[in-house]
Amino acid sequence: MRPLFALFIFSCFTFDLKSQVDLESIAKSELAQYYKLKNYSTKRASGENIDIVYAGLNLSPNMKTAYLKGDVNFYFKTSAPVNQLHFDLRTELTVDSIKHGLEKLVFVHAMDDVITIAFNQTISANTLDSVRIYYQGSPLQNNRAYERNVTASGPIIATLSEPYGAHYWWPCRENLVDKIDSLDVRVTVDTAYKVASNGLLQAITLKDSVHTYYWKHRYPVATYLVAFAASRYSVYSDYALLKSNKNLEILNYVFPHNEADARSKTSATIPVIQLFDSLFGTYPFENEKYGHAQFTVGGGMEHQTMSFVGNFGYDLIAHELAHQWFGDKITCGTWHDLWLNESFATYCNLLCYDFLKPREEWYSQLRNFKRDVLTQTYGSVRSQDTVNTGALFEYRTTYQKGAMVLHQLRWLIGDQAFFAGLRNYLQANKHAYGFARSNDLQYYLEQSSGMNLNDYFNDCIVGEGYPIHAIKWNQKGNKVIIDIVQTQSHPSVELYNVPLPILLKGLNKDTLLRIPINKAVETYEITLPYIVNDLIFDPNEWILGKSIISFPKKNDGESITMYPNPGVSDFYAELNNTDATGYTIYDASYKTVLTHQYREKKLKGTILYLDLSVLSNGTYIIQFATPTVTITKRIIIY
Ligand SMILES: [Zn+2]
Repeated sequence: MRPLFALFIFSCFTFDLKSQVDLESIAKSELAQYYKLKNYSTKRASGENIDIVYAGLNLSPNMKTAYLKGDVNFYFKTSAPVNQLHFDLRTELTVDSIKHGLEKLVFVHAMDDVITIAFNQTISANTLDSVRIYYQGSPLQNNRAYERNVTASGPIIATLSEPYGAHYWWPCRENLVDKIDSLDVRVTVDTAYKVASNGLLQAITLKDSVHTYYWKHRYPVATYLVAFAASRYSVYSDYALLKSNKNLEILNYVFPHNEADARSKTSATIPVIQLFDSLFGTYPFENEKYGHAQFTVGGGMEHQTMSFVGNFGYDLIAHELAHQWFGDKITCGTWHDLWLNESFATYCNLLCYDFLKPREEWYSQLRNFKRDVLTQTYGSVRSQDTVNTGALFEYRTTYQKGAMVLHQLRWLIGDQAFFAGLRNYLQANKHAYGFARSNDLQYYLEQSSGMNLNDYFNDCIVGEGYPIHAIKWNQKGNKVIIDIVQTQSHPSVELYNVPLPILLKGLNKDTLLRIPINKAVETYEITLPYIVNDLIFDPNEWILGKSIISFPKKNDGESITMYPNPGVSDFYAELNNTDATGYTIYDASYKTVLTHQYREKKLKGTILYLDLSVLSNGTYIIQFATPTVTITKRIIIY
C-alpha cells in the first residue's frame, strides 16, 4: 500500500484537508494487493472460443468463520469446437466437483491457480453449453477480495475484486475481454443478516431457518465488478427522477449504528445522478437500480449497480456513481487503460463542482488538483506497470493527473465536442456494456471535434510530466508583445502544443487570448487600444503546468518603479538604484493604512512583492524608507 505522507502533509495547507484524504482513500480502496495471475487470463480467454453468457453464483458464507461453500453455474456459447476450458481459482479453495449436465468432468486445479477442465466429447461450434463448479474453503483474509470484519453492528463479509481478486473467492474467468452477459447471485446466510449485490433483489426465501437472498442482474458485467456484502444492515431507499422519467431507486444497505449519518448524506446522490444522466446519457442500468452497501474499507468500490462505500462523503458518492458509466458500462480493455475508469470518475466528481456548486469551490478544486499533480516532475496517466497494483492505482497520476488532462482536453476541443464525443463513446455499440482502450476514446473525441488528437494523447496520456511556460510581456504604444518559452519537466515529451489562455487586463477592459503553441519559443503580438496593467496566465484554470511570468520593467531612471499601477492587489516594487528598509502606505487624507519594516535591508536590484489585497479601491501614497531618504510614489487600486 502506498504511503499517505506526501499528500497528507501537502494537504495540511489547504482548507479541504478532509476532502483530499477522502479522495485519496478512493484510490486506496479500489485496489487490493492481489498478485497478477502468472497465466493471466485475458490472453487465455481470447483464445478459448467461448463467450460467457451467464454466471449463477450460489454462495453460503459462514458469518462467524468466513468459510465459504458454493457453486457457480456458467453458460457459454462456443464460436469454434471446444475440448477444454480454464477457470481461475486460488488453491486455498478446493474444487469438489465439476459437472457438465449430469456427468462429472475430469479437471486439474494447478498451483498457478488455474482449473483446467477436459470435456468427454468435443463441443461443436455455435453451441450453448454449461458447466457447474462446486467448491469450498477459507478464502485468504486481509487482502480485501473476500474479507470478514466486525463492526459495532456485528460481522460483515464483503468482497472487492479489482483488479485481480475475483478468483480469491469464486471460480471465474479473470479477464478484460468477455463480460458475463447475465448474472444471478444467491447468498445464503443466517436470518440475522441481509445481503447486498448486483442487480435487483428478486426474493428472500426462508428454508431451514436460513435466508437466501436472490439478486438478478441482466446487464453484461466484468468479472471484477461482481460482488456481495452481508451484514446486519438497515435498508432504505432514495429515489432520483431521471431524464427518461424513470424514478430510479437508490437502495442503501448501511450499518444500523451509522444509519442516521447515512440517511443525511446519501440523498446527495440524487442531483449527482441527474447531472451525469444529462451529461453522459441515461444511467446505464436504468431497468434495475443504483445503490450503496456500506463496508469496512476506507473508500469505495464501484460494483455494478451497487457501489460499496466506507463512508457517505460527497466526493466518494460522486466518484463511485460516475464509474457506472466510466468503468462499468464501458470497462478498461486492459489494466494499462485503467485511466478510462479512474480519470473519468475523478473528473466527473469535479464536474459536480462545476455544475452544482459555487464557482469558487470549482476553481479551488482545480487548483488543489493541479498543485498535487505538479509536486512531481514525472508520471503518466496511462499505467505503465500493471503488475504492481500500487503503481497502477496511483492517485496522483491515474486519478488526479488524468482528471486534469481530461479537463484540459475539454478546453482544447470545447465543451460541445467534449461532451458529445463522450456521449458517442458511451453509446457506441462496439464498446457500450463492453470494453474500450485509449485509442477508442480518442476516436470518438476526434470525430466530435474534427481534430487530430494524436499529439495530445501521446504527450498528456502516455507522456510523463508537464510543461513549464516562461512568459515575458511588454507594451509598446498600442502593441502588446508576449514571449513564451516552453520547457518540459520530463524528457518523454518534446512539446505540449496546447493553446494557452492568457488574459490581458486593462483599467476598464480585458482581453482573453488563446495563444497557439507550435514551437518551444513563441512570440505573440496583438494591437490593443488600451493600456495593459496585468497579464494573467490561465485565469479559468484549464491548463496543467507551471508558469513563470515576468512583468515588464519600466525603468525610466527612477530609484524605485512600482507596477502594475493602477493594479488590483498584487504590486511589485523594483529597487533600481537604492536599497530599502520598509514602506508605509497612506490614504488620500494622509492617514497611515499599512506599514511594513523588512527584517533585513532589501538590496538594490531586488523586486519586492507587495500584497495589497487588504486595501480597498482608491488612491494611496506609498513611502519607501531607504538608508538615506524616503521615496514617495502614488498608487491606484481598482
Ligand atoms: Zn474509482
